[in-house]
Amino acid sequence: RVIMDEFKIEDNISYKNLFKPYGYINGEWIDLPKGKSFNIYNPSTNKIIATMPEMGIDETKYAIESAKIAFDKWKKKTAKERCFLLRKWYDLVLENIDDLSVIMTLENGKPLKESKAEIIYASSFIDWFSEEGKRTYGRSIPATQIDKRIITIKQPVGVSALITPWNFPAAMITRKVAPALAAGCSVIIKPAEQTPLSASALVYLAQKAGIPKGVINLLVANNPIPIGKELCENESVRKISFTGSTEVGKILIKDSANSVKKVSMELGGNAPLIVFNDADVDIAVKETLASKYRNSGQTCVCANRIFVQDGIYKKYSEALAKKVADFKVGDGFEHTSDIGPLIDNSGLKKVERHLDDAIAKGAKVLTGGKQPSLGGLYYEPTVLTEVAKNMVLFKEETFGPLAPLFKFKDVDEVINMANNTNYGLAGYIFTKDLNTAWKVSEELQFGMVGINSGILSTEVAPFGGVKESGIGREGAVEGMDEYMEIKYLCFGNIM
Ligand code: ADP
Repeated sequence: RVIMDEFKIEDNISYKNLFKPYGYINGEWIDLPKGKSFNIYNPSTNKIIATMPEMGIDETKYAIESAKIAFDKWKKKTAKERCFLLRKWYDLVLENIDDLSVIMTLENGKPLKESKAEIIYASSFIDWFSEEGKRTYGRSIPATQIDKRIITIKQPVGVSALITPWNFPAAMITRKVAPALAAGCSVIIKPAEQTPLSASALVYLAQKAGIPKGVINLLVANNPIPIGKELCENESVRKISFTGSTEVGKILIKDSANSVKKVSMELGGNAPLIVFNDADVDIAVKETLASKYRNSGQTCVCANRIFVQDGIYKKYSEALAKKVADFKVGDGFEHTSDIGPLIDNSGLKKVERHLDDAIAKGAKVLTGGKQPSLGGLYYEPTVLTEVAKNMVLFKEETFGPLAPLFKFKDVDEVINMANNTNYGLAGYIFTKDLNTAWKVSEELQFGMVGINSGILSTEVAPFGGVKESGIGREGAVEGMDEYMEIKYLCFGNIM
């Protein structure tokens, strides 16, 4: 079943130990008969890496039952006991960083250095929540009657279903699993069909760390619809946490309505990045590169619309294009690669559609603008000038290495343009003026604002969006609250 000879990786890398092309339910690795399987491809070579079982409703019901039984025991452990196991998991993830990174680059295509950075980022959630689990404090509230006492306690919400995307195959899992487990919930993970091997490797390390059976379950499939529907409709699941497209998020919210589940949604973005005349150009360019081109532009917080004030437009665009032209596009296992392939053909077609539409409406290519000679799913990092609001790339998230530079004159104009979207995840501004920084940060209708910074994500801060970019936050204290219910206790007749 496991196709291992199709590719050659350096011999000293032992990722095969973590290579688990299976689902995991009730503490057991699950395969299904031949014919009920799907393939995982390396986006760099289009070769099959593995085949995995195509799970469906039966496996989902079994996973929910297992998680329900496990929850009753797991919630009764002390926070310290749970956190001790999470800590072991954290240690194992870091010990296995090389192997985990190889698996990630194999199935996602991102350069190995980015995979390593993601494993460190992914592990940071386990580290942080393993401690935070001990601090899920309630409150003591002064009562309005002399004989009453009021307190609140926090309790785990219950069986939690976690549906994750392919762009951060490890971090999007730990960002949900770590707080859920620390809070006392049991989980069912449904990773993206493109990248389930990073998920199963992480689950395997959790098993090795001693997380009890049924507390973590993993469902894999190429068709997520039956699994998603069962997870949303089954009354035993009390929480859905999803990261992915706004379109799918809306389906999950609707399907969860009947059983009134707690939901967290981390959905699409259409991030503005605003460069004011007084910005430090070097900083603005450096941070734009980090924001726009990380993961080949395939993140929901990637700058999607870059607004540059007229006085700095020429200087900034030339400096940016010069750096972008220096990026090396190539296979993630080549040490020189900065930009890997896009995840699949529909990802590539979207970038091409946005570019063609922009060119047809008058945009100019400053650098890039086509596939490199490598072909496949690769696309040259691109900078476009003379872009306008009537282009598709103003409205839609490109999710690729394409940077469109809009020109603007004054602050109010740019705030209006930036907010002219249904999305509201991340925004970025570059200015040395404190007044501008405050005013624009407050006016932007986005859940997160980077000021002179193109990177925002960290386990200690609440990540999340407003409008159609989502509900709820991940990371920080707020990320823990997503997996807890508040119970209010009222003591009467205290004399
Ligand atoms: P992307 O466009 O980034 O692939 P999706 O929203 O399609 O984003 O996918 C994100 C995650 O949602 C993946 O794990 C995918 O399998 C899952 N997914 C997609 N459609 C559904 C659905 N109808 N029900 C449940 N999960 C779904």
